[in-house]
Order: sequence, then C-alpha cells, then structure tokens
Amino acid sequence: MAFRYLNTGFENASPLDWEIGDNGAIQIALIYDHERESPNRAVLHWHFMLEADPGDTLRLELRNFDNIWNGRPGSPIGDETPCVVSEDGRNWRTAIGRKVEGNRLELFVSLVADHLYVARIEPYRISDLERFLERIRRNELVRIEPVGTTVEGRELSIVSVGRLDAPHHVLLRGRAHPWETGGNWVIQGLIDGLLAADAGSALDAYCLHVLPMANKDGVARGMSRFNLRGCDLNRNWERPADPMLAPENRALEVWIERMISAGQRPDLVIDLHNDNGGQLHANCPEEGAELYQANMVRLEEVLRRFTWFREGRVSPNFRNPGSLGEGLCDRYGIDACILELKCLATEGLGRPPLGADWHRFGRGMRQALTAYFA
Ligand SMILES: [Zn+2]
Repeated sequence: MAFRYLNTGFENASPLDWEIGDNGAIQIALIYDHERESPNRAVLHWHFMLEADPGDTLRLELRNFDNIWNGRPGSPIGDETPCVVSEDGRNWRTAIGRKVEGNRLELFVSLVADHLYVARIEPYRISDLERFLERIRRNELVRIEPVGTTVEGRELSIVSVGRLDAPHHVLLRGRAHPWETGGNWVIQGLIDGLLAADAGSALDAYCLHVLPMANKDGVARGMSRFNLRGCDLNRNWERPADPMLAPENRALEVWIERMISAGQRPDLVIDLHNDNGGQLHANCPEEGAELYQANMVRLEEVLRRFTWFREGRVSPNFRNPGSLGEGLCDRYGIDACILELKCLATEGLGRPPLGADWHRFGRGMRQALTAYFA
C-alpha cells in the first residue's frame, strides 16, 4: 500500500486528526462541535480526500461519534452506515461502512485514481450554491434579496420565485445544520421545477421564498451542527434571536416579520433537515392545533403523492421545544414544520439517496405544493 496523505485542504472538508494505526488502518479522529451552555456536541459530517496509488484498497476507521443531542448520548452511526465516495467531487457513489467496537466506523475503499474523496452524504458547498444562484439570477421570476450576514460576515439572502401578489407564500429553509445537504438539493430541484417551461400554474398558486443555506459558516468550515458562536439554529425559536449569537436566525425572523407587516405572511414554512429517520415533524401548537394538524396531514399526503417520500409523519403529540417549527407556530401563527430527509436507505428508493434523488424530490414538491394550496 502506498498511502500518501489525507487531504483536508479544500472547501467544506472536515476538521480532523489522523494517523496510521498498528492494525494498518487509517485512523481518523473527527472533531466535535459544541453547543454553548449545554452538554450537546456533534460529529455528523465527514468529508476528506485520500491520496494513494490506483488499485489500493484502504481500511479507514473513523471515530468520535459519542454525540450528545438534547442532553442525551446518541451515536449517528449504525451497523450499516452509508457514505459516499468520488474521484472528482461531482459524481458520487455509495459505499457502506459498518460500526465496529468502540463506536468506530469502519470503511473499506478502493482507489481507481491517485485520490478519492470520501464524505458522509453528497456534499453541497457554498460554491455549489453560488453557481446555482448565478444560473437563475437573471430570470425575471427570481429575486435575490440580501437579508443579513452570518457570524463571520457571509451574506445571507432570501431567494424568491414567483409574484409577490400570489395568493399564498411558502418559505423553505435549508442547512440550519451544516452537514445536512439534502435540503439544498431539494431547494435546487424545486426552483428548477418552478422555472421550467411547464410550471405556469404552480406560480399562480404560490410564491416561493427560500433561505437556502442558513449556517454558511459551518458549511465553509466543514462543521456538523452549530454556528460559530455555538448556537443551534433549530433551537431557541420560542423567543427573539440574539443578534450577536445567532445573526442567521435574527435575519430570518426580521424578514418574516416584514412579510407579515406587508400582508404576505407565509402560509407554510418547511425547515429542511437530514437524519436517519426521515419523517415529517409536525408539532403541537398552543393555538389552532386542529386546523394545523389537518394541514400537516394534507402536506404529508401530497408529499407521498408527488415525491418518493414514504417515511410519514411523527405523532401529533410530538414536541421539540425551540425548533423553528414550534417557534413560528406559537409566535406568529404560521403553519411550520420540520421535514427530515432520510440519509439511510429510504422506502421510496430502496437505497440511500444521492443529490440527484433529492433534486428529483424537490421537483416533485412543485406539484405537491400546488396540490396543498388547491
Ligand atoms: Zn438538522
């Protein structure tokens, strides 16, 4: 074996430490990110490049999966944990890792070139978003409005597609958690669908607004969950966001309040995430629970009808205090929910999704949302 180097010198690569173990495996210690004033910590993202000889098979052992979520221990890896590999960082294929003793992830990879990218799920980088926005920017149906900046000063924009006098407004947020790239592919698929030649009737029904990448700093730095000040951008929505600690949430909140003042209150907000379960997390608002639950049943039904979503809805009594779904329901009376996109094999596909699958999911959401508002 002529293993030469583990390269993390590129966009969205994970912070990590590595060494060659006594057993010959490349031992990779991922670095947790931590939540402020909380025991919570997370390693959920891995993205690096191996340099070795073509024809080599390398054994990798990844560690530091002793995550703490909502104050409880929880490992993100299981007996079969799908990863993705690619020679060019564009065309990815699935490689299955497995959990071994010590809560480590073992993965065997074979090189056909002198390098191989390895990641948890198909990456979607800031440069991918910028390339996409450049492609749609001049379309007359698209508006891109700067609404604030991240902790490190990266620009946050709301991308709107359609007419502001449309009868309904939908808001989607992606990438509150940096490792969760599925939402970006869904957003791109939905916007591509709305801008396709046959999309006229959808934009008569609703105007789409998107904050595509809330936690840009975390994406840039290859982090897992929190922002640069240790805030979880899907928590603390029960009260106004602290503009110093979570400017990403403050920017979105100010935009929502401005829409409400202008008589354009979002009728539906979907916060896009990834996890191992893939369910629609409706919640239990303090007021108007019956109408809200009926709307969530309808949302689940149209997602099943027009996309490959099959994982269903969690119990109507589910609560996840402080999530964007609960906060927007309780503070603004908006129908808001969390849509988790499953990163393990899904029922609708029979295998773990890649970026193109989530893009197709997004295209299906165009009709799903039309049907939802019909
Ligand atoms: Zn998430």
